[in-house]
Amino acid sequence: MLDVLISNAEIIYANNRYKASVGVQDGVIAGIYQPGAEPEAGEVVDASNLALIPGAVDMHSHHREGGEPGGYAYKENIHTATMQCAAGGVTTSVAMPNVTPPPNTVPRLEQLFGVYERESIIDFNVNPAGTIPEEIPNLAQHGIGAFKVFMVVDTGRDYPHMPGIGVHDHGKLMEIMEACAAANVPLMVHPHDQPLMDYIEKKFWDRGERDCLAYAKAYAANDGVIWETAIQFLIRLQAATGVHLHLLHVQTAGTVDMIRRAKDAGQRVTAEVNPWAIFLGSDWSEIERLGSYALSYWVPEENSPALWGGLCDGTIDIVATDHAPHTREEKEIGWEDGWKAHTGTPSAQYYMSLLFDAASKGKISQERVVEATSTRPAQIFGVHNKGRIEVGYDADLVLVDLNAEKEIRDEDVLSLIGWSPYAGRTLKGWPVRTFVRGTTVYRDGKVVGKKGHGRQAKARYPG
Ligand SMILES: [Zn+2]
Repeated sequence: MLDVLISNAEIIYANNRYKASVGVQDGVIAGIYQPGAEPEAGEVVDASNLALIPGAVDMHSHHREGGEPGGYAYKENIHTATMQCAAGGVTTSVAMPNVTPPPNTVPRLEQLFGVYERESIIDFNVNPAGTIPEEIPNLAQHGIGAFKVFMVVDTGRDYPHMPGIGVHDHGKLMEIMEACAAANVPLMVHPHDQPLMDYIEKKFWDRGERDCLAYAKAYAANDGVIWETAIQFLIRLQAATGVHLHLLHVQTAGTVDMIRRAKDAGQRVTAEVNPWAIFLGSDWSEIERLGSYALSYWVPEENSPALWGGLCDGTIDIVATDHAPHTREEKEIGWEDGWKAHTGTPSAQYYMSLLFDAASKGKISQERVVEATSTRPAQIFGVHNKGRIEVGYDADLVLVDLNAEKEIRDEDVLSLIGWSPYAGRTLKGWPVRTFVRGTTVYRDGKVVGKKGHGRQAKARYPG
């Protein structure tokens, strides 16, 4: 007898779409059945009017709580971060290393995993900082999906890109790429041209322009030159080292072309786009209205067709949240000094709905939404047993009401910060129930998952 039978759902994953029932036993997908031909089950979930998708595998999230108490956990802790994930249809969330202390050695990584095992209600992993090349072979033995390097060291604040996780020295980056290539683990890079940015931002400051709008314009200056010189350099260095390079924060039309050419040439390059680049920072009026609350970065609208085109045709492989919560105080200061406001926007709770809403408007197919958020990230990073609705895979499943319409409201945000830059938007397409390895963690508007349910979603990099 099955534990759970999800009956008569519209299954959507990758290029598949069909009506079927899915059986779950011991946390795993035990069978896929024609409606009417299902075995008995302890619980039967009638999904006749719902879509069933593999839960999102979010490879890029900032959870704030580190291996030691204090740090940035006042912004968000692992429990509240994973509550948002459960509500948003994310069943595996992978953390970035800008926490205290940054996981750049094995003891620090193990210490951080210990906190996740205690606090997380969904499955998790961590992308360690690849800033110490000699640690890379050891860290690579711990089931990680990727290393992360920021090519950025902030001016005027020590977060989110604090010293110790940022590398912009080209020789050092080459050494890190060689070490990742030898360990056969992908390297994720936040592309940035720091010396160029130093020059560009000084021009703004010399003119007395320091507010959030100046900040937005500085990062987008000269058609995104700081992004494009960095990505061009990284793609060339990939060819030199053979590393699997995963480019974060793709946001200019020019870089979509560069990535397409690199892929055509057979280079091991993959890429991601973040919700803020296609739903938020792409609208200047939102930046004027919300200031630093809307800023990760400004992505001038003329880039939108290339970003959507690249996402739909797979040039941009995946969507990852870059979920990055900050307090209101840390954003408010941006009206005066955009360089002092902490960069980034929260999105884990709403990005699947933003994407399904976009699908309802014909901007992307529902199948591609599922592929880009679940199947493809699991495949790229070798996340074991995730991202597919097939027998033997983990029963990480999300029931979605594709016709439900609901407004995002600050008071519904399940985080410590209590705000969303998307508040006030009405979206079509909402998760109604989320399973992590067969256990319900979210149901009918309530997070019911328990701390300690989450396990490391180990990666076995396919090579
Ligand atoms: Zn990030």
